[in-house]
Amino acid sequence: MDFKALANKYNTPLYVYDLDYMSAQYEKLKSAFKAHPSILAYAVKANSNLSVIKHFADLGSGADCVSIGEVRRAILAGVPPYKILFSGVGKNDDEIKEAIQTDILYINVESEAELNRIEAIAKELNVKCRISIRVNPNIDPKTHPYISTGLHANKFGVDISTAKRMYIKSKNSDSLDPVGIHFHIGSQLTELKPIYEASEIVADMLRSLQAIDIELRFFDIGGGLGVKYDDETTIDPYDYAQAILSTLKGLNLTIICEPGRFLTANAGYFLTKVLYEKQNGEKRFVIVDGAMNDILRPSLYNAYHKLEAVTQNDGEKFKADVVGPVCESGDFIAKEIELPILQHNDLIVVHSAGAYGFGMGSNYNTRARSAEVAIENGNDRLIRKRESFDDLIALEKEFLD
Ligand SMILES: *Cc1c(COP(=O)(O)O)cnc(C)c1O
Repeated sequence: MDFKALANKYNTPLYVYDLDYMSAQYEKLKSAFKAHPSILAYAVKANSNLSVIKHFADLGSGADCVSIGEVRRAILAGVPPYKILFSGVGKNDDEIKEAIQTDILYINVESEAELNRIEAIAKELNVKCRISIRVNPNIDPKTHPYISTGLHANKFGVDISTAKRMYIKSKNSDSLDPVGIHFHIGSQLTELKPIYEASEIVADMLRSLQAIDIELRFFDIGGGLGVKYDDETTIDPYDYAQAILSTLKGLNLTIICEPGRFLTANAGYFLTKVLYEKQNGEKRFVIVDGAMNDILRPSLYNAYHKLEAVTQNDGEKFKADVVGPVCESGDFIAKEIELPILQHNDLIVVHSAGAYGFGMGSNYNTRARSAEVAIENGNDRLIRKRESFDDLIALEKEFLD
């Protein structure tokens, strides 16, 4: 990919997404489940650009959404309602109402209190709401604590006995239709065993529900498949599918998988230009025009992203921190990495930036968010304009006078 040409054409900071790579990842995972009915529901929060969602919708993907805003994005991008899920630990009444009226596939319920709200709202609307319950199997996913979700210490889902009570209540309700069971134990998973164990626990639960005449149709295994940022060993999609399917012997279900990072992370690049270098005593800083408001993962999780310097200088390399202009010591993109001496306007390419990149951005320090560009069949096109100062103040300006 000609990053330099892209940076010159669209300016920096800039996100670039390889849509063909996204297609390849989608097909890899989809075909791993091919012996079985399945829906891949793209986890929209990973990269919620409308053109990215549309790209997956065109491949046949559904959408896993965690706010009504994401549901609206999915609909706009052409995902059919019957392939849309609504997950998340807190949904307000308006969101629940709109999800029901949109007639999405089901709502993933994360607590008893939420089930009660959904029942009340469905009753008011005089409909039966399809639900699935997120079970927290209390499995340690062996990932970063901030992205672990499958332990009782995490806020997500309900324990097995609570879930059972909720299914019985739903079955006996005129306003609820229990159709699925859901678990999602964490993100950036690189070990198969915790997934297998969680799937086994949830499949057992499903069998015990069958025994009391509660028949579910969807087995929702969440997302979380890890990707290579550095030298991680990752899970092969085929092994992943086999592990899940091995826990479902004798069960006739549609598998729902909610991949986010797996589909988009390594399809994305964040391009940022060097402003200048600076030395504070022993410490070398490379100051770039991109910052934590553009790419938050390093600051938030101390996440590693591979950096590549596009420069004429192929001389000796020295350790440096790559930092942005935001007024926070936590504003860095990389720490203690080896880089040649860089000049004003040299380009730095941040790899694996297609998931949880742009979407986690903000306008902190009144910085406009970057533009987004898609590459498909060798052609580049803008899929989000760079924000302007006027965009940033649009909702405030009228209150000045
Ligand atoms: C975030 C999330 C996903 C996607 O996670 P990835 O690690 O990006 O695959 C899937 N399902 C739920 C419920 C989520 O919250």
